[in-house]
Amino acid sequence: MFQAPRGTQDILPEDAAYWLFVERTARDWAARYGYGEIRTPTFEETGLFLRGVGDSTDIVEKEMYTFQDKGGGELTLRPEGTAPIVRAYIEHGMASRPQPVRLFSFVNCFRYDRPQRGRYREFHQWDCEAIGEIDPLVDAELIILLWRVYQALGLRDLTLQLNSIGDARCRPAYLERLREYYRPLVATVCPDCRRRYETNPLRLLDCKNAACQAAIAGAPRLLDYLCAECAEHFAALRAYLADADLPVEINPRLVRGLDYYTKTVFEVWPAEAGAQSALGGGGRYDGLVEQLGGRPTPAIGFATGIERIILNLKAQSIEPPLLPGPRVYVAHLGDRPRREAMRLADALRQQGVPTLVAVGGRSMRAQLRHANALGAPWVVVIGEDELARGVVQVKNMRGGESVELAPQAAVERLAAGG
Ligand SMILES: [Zn+2]
Ligand SMILES: [Zn+2]
Repeated sequence: MFQAPRGTQDILPEDAAYWLFVERTARDWAARYGYGEIRTPTFEETGLFLRGVGDSTDIVEKEMYTFQDKGGGELTLRPEGTAPIVRAYIEHGMASRPQPVRLFSFVNCFRYDRPQRGRYREFHQWDCEAIGEIDPLVDAELIILLWRVYQALGLRDLTLQLNSIGDARCRPAYLERLREYYRPLVATVCPDCRRRYETNPLRLLDCKNAACQAAIAGAPRLLDYLCAECAEHFAALRAYLADADLPVEINPRLVRGLDYYTKTVFEVWPAEAGAQSALGGGGRYDGLVEQLGGRPTPAIGFATGIERIILNLKAQSIEPPLLPGPRVYVAHLGDRPRREAMRLADALRQQGVPTLVAVGGRSMRAQLRHANALGAPWVVVIGEDELARGVVQVKNMRGGESVELAPQAAVERLAAGG
């Protein structure tokens, strides 16, 4: 027997209501903030992610689904949504549009990771990117948008973790200072951190290993080393977020480890917390457009995991709006009544009424049981006798009463709500 590949999942109709709820809410709010939808391909040239995610990251080193196609092209299933959107921004000359260009996308992403609760090898994200503006107002709006979506979904007890990681002007001096601090501690930290000490010292700060926590607690804070421009940017952002009543927690250990990330970084954590279970997060990447071959262009974005959101909706017992089930079930006995049932169902559907027609050779009793099991509140019964008299029976499954009506009158009445 075949099974869905490890780390993937089927979304069944009973779960689709959650997905639609999240997607509709996100779309609704994205439109309110002026974000337009972009859809990019599921796979890209591998080089895009080597440059756009960073070749010293776990994603690129261990997790990418990379393959050669039959023409010899080196391709990768997207492991994240930002690099493809930035690629599209450059490729389509969006720098000549009014800036910033605000884009959102629902993307499926692929990472060869150890599957666990809420973590899949194919997972889904809602991505928003604002490209072409450095004003902290844009940072604030983007973060508030994400927050308002969580709020509109009904999620409670979230916190916003916020930090600034400086830029090319102020970060090098800090990294120097951080290395100095870690030099006598290198022997005490985990093997990953020993490697980070050499390749990517900023990532030392977000190690989850227990052995490394003491070292992290005493480490110098980047916030104390920001240059005047970064400090002003961060102060303005905090003021906007305070005005919007977001419960901000400054978290000096929140980092993104690549050079093109600058200034703002943030994550939203659920109550039970831990960066491992972040609902969403993002940051400013003022160096990425240039890194991917465009002109120097400031930008900021976030991604939030749809599976994570749904996990939290369920944990908080938040029910999505019900999707409409069948309103009318058309039961019939005999060949001619069956054709009349098809005709009537078609008329009902054209009036917008979700309608099912009995299939197979079931008895009338079995058809009514079937209608009941499907939860249809109305049943239309058509037999030879009804056909001969030019009527159908319209039966209310909740109240149990039946009325006889001409077919056209039945359609009108059911279309009007019954
Ligand atoms: Zn460590
Ligand atoms: Zn700076």
